[in-house]
Amino acid sequence: MLKEKIARVFAEQFGGEGIFYASAGRINLIGEHTDYNGGFVFPGAIDKVIMAEIRPNGLDKVRVRSIDIDEYVEFGLEEKDAPSESWARYIFGVCREVLKRGGKVEGFDAVFAGNVPLGAGLSSSAALESCFAYAVNDLFNDNRIEKFELARIGQSTEHNYCGVNCGIMDQFASVCGKEGNLMRLDCRSLEYEYYPFHPEDYDLVLIDSCVKHELKDSPYNRRRESCERVAALLGVGTLRDADMDMLEAKREEMSEEDYKRAKYVIGEKERVLDVCDALEKGDYERVGRNMYATHEGLSKDYEVSCEELDFLNDVARETGVTGSRIMGGGFGGCTINLVSKKLHDDFVKEAVDRFEKKYGHAPKVYDVVISDGARRL
Ligand code: ADP
Ligand code: MG
Repeated sequence: MLKEKIARVFAEQFGGEGIFYASAGRINLIGEHTDYNGGFVFPGAIDKVIMAEIRPNGLDKVRVRSIDIDEYVEFGLEEKDAPSESWARYIFGVCREVLKRGGKVEGFDAVFAGNVPLGAGLSSSAALESCFAYAVNDLFNDNRIEKFELARIGQSTEHNYCGVNCGIMDQFASVCGKEGNLMRLDCRSLEYEYYPFHPEDYDLVLIDSCVKHELKDSPYNRRRESCERVAALLGVGTLRDADMDMLEAKREEMSEEDYKRAKYVIGEKERVLDVCDALEKGDYERVGRNMYATHEGLSKDYEVSCEELDFLNDVARETGVTGSRIMGGGFGGCTINLVSKKLHDDFVKEAVDRFEKKYGHAPKVYDVVISDGARRL
């Protein structure tokens, strides 16, 4: 459907046809607030994508139509040609970052659309960057740029052209994702490993609270500072290198707040490793227990939850959902839920009805399946 729609608009706009590319949004099963502590994250690409039809145009400019935002933009490939439309800056940024790395980019025509919800925590922006980075590599560079470098191109695009100081996880997951696999990314070494994810009797469901609590002082920076203080006290570079015994041994020398923050981070490293082991044994109930423990830690120790997310977590628990937790930085956004298939419909109904009754607006529901990342179709 997406493909047909894009093909129709491409033919109208430019005539003829091009080559199709797609890249995915992502979820993170477990491993939250671990990246800046040198720890692990555990993302996977999902069956929601940005798709583009692209054809070199022999000109010195890029011409792009966004179907979803219904705008058309043209830009050259010099730094001064940066477009003002925010969606186009992602594409311009990708081109510039490829050029900066000595890669080749020629003019092209493109039409794109997607079904990754925008701003819901599924990283539609990474899907957009990764789709175009993959395409530019395939069309103009004989795929010489390695996949991880394509992810870095997306990350640098966010930093340099979109004002978002993000880590590497989203672009990495979007580019490197594989159907039926999650990836454990070591945020310190940037090494990664695929783990089988075939939850035949379970679904992954996201419930989007559609709230975002804007907090005055930056709570994220304060969390980071706590982690750094404890790491220094324990004599390690980051909390990645600490364990619970080390933490307990110095407990008296730190504030209660710093202790709780570090306890969450150290516990989360152990939970990610336990989930890896559970997945290798196909034990999804154990995966789920770790997800609940993460939620508990994020809520009570790291204190980045909010009423709405705790409510959704309670509903999941009360409905018998296997695992549930906040996904993303916190203070709003989605919960990610591992739900046995037979409970799926009851849980969704319960979550939507009860949330709406309490908060006056319905949450959004996204069913996701772990799928391939960036690709030529
Ligand atoms: P997310 O968490 O989904 O990545 P961001 O705010 O980082 O949210 O990125 C959303 C931005 O990405 C949009 O404002 C838009 O510029 C661009 N974008 C994402 N999806 C699309 C789309 N389908 N069509 C056009 N632009 C898109
Ligand atoms: Mg984004």
